Amino acid sequence: MNTERSSSTDHTLIIDGAAAAANVIESIKETVRSERLRPGLAVILVGKDPASGVYVRSKKRRAEECGFLSRQYDLPEETTEVELLALVRELNQDPDIHGILVQLPLPPQINPHSVIEEIVPGKDVDGFHYSNAGRLGTGDIGQAIVPCTPLGCLHLLKQVLGDGIRGKHAVVIGRSNIVGKPMANLLMHNDCTVTIVHSRTVEPQNICRQADIVVAAVGIPRLVKADWIKRGAVAIDVGINRVTKPNGETGLVGDIDYENVFPLVSAITPVPGGVGPMTIAMLMLNTLNAASRSSLSPADAQ
Ligand code: NAD
Repeated sequence: MNTERSSSTDHTLIIDGAAAAANVIESIKETVRSERLRPGLAVILVGKDPASGVYVRSKKRRAEECGFLSRQYDLPEETTEVELLALVRELNQDPDIHGILVQLPLPPQINPHSVIEEIVPGKDVDGFHYSNAGRLGTGDIGQAIVPCTPLGCLHLLKQVLGDGIRGKHAVVIGRSNIVGKPMANLLMHNDCTVTIVHSRTVEPQNICRQADIVVAAVGIPRLVKADWIKRGAVAIDVGINRVTKPNGETGLVGDIDYENVFPLVSAITPVPGGVGPMTIAMLMLNTLNAASRSSLSPADAQ
């Protein structure tokens, strides 16, 4: 459900990512039941990073809720790259597993690129393998597994704009391989005119102010101020930043200065409760699709 609040635009839509994610999860459950599928997701956690532990547990819970086979591998901090690669190879061959996710970051003795490249592209449900990145980059979207966070952002944007997304000027702030670059490619594939703003961009606010769509994926609390925003734009906030409030309590804020940007935009995602829940829902969707593809043609999973 989307909620609205009055503002100096006609109205501002608060894009409810939790509700959108719940809808996606319900439709996944329905597909799993009706098609008698048993998608299998393996999540590998190396070490004891508390934030990673929270993410992995919530992925496991969601997978179980969707009716998936859910396996979690907790490996010690001192795991070697050779040992991790051996586990990935084993899971590549396991017919019950359709999605393999290695939680990042990894300890310094393990090269994350080597590990990601070891996952067979058809089971790379994070969409980080060069093969999936290349397919997305060349517009071969039907064959690509697309990274979950940008996919979730696109889903929310289409919910708000529908076909009206076409021809819009989208400014993506951030150029990471996980969010910024795949987001830009997805928007381009959806016929947006795309500009990427990054840490070396000169006067980013002047570029951002031309945007019909702003996607902020930086990791700097409230970087995007009201004077970066064109009236009526749609704002998607990917940032998750833990900050200490004046009363000493800690809380989460995004990369967009929500309170001051809110009156200007036509729609905005809150933090928390916007993009975050969609990321896990898209992981489930990628896993379901990987399982469906492998049930049609097991060779495609390789
Ligand atoms: P990253 O650190 O890999 O990339 C940050 C990007 O921001 C870089 O490309 C850099 O060029 C750019 N940048 C840095 N300073 C800038 C500035 N002053 N102006 C413009 N651009 C600047 O981060 P990431 O992995 O892409 O994540 C970005 C944020 O999104 C983080 O807060 C992260 O926690 C969050 N995140 C959220 C989800 C989710 O599910 N909601 C998923 C992934 C990441």
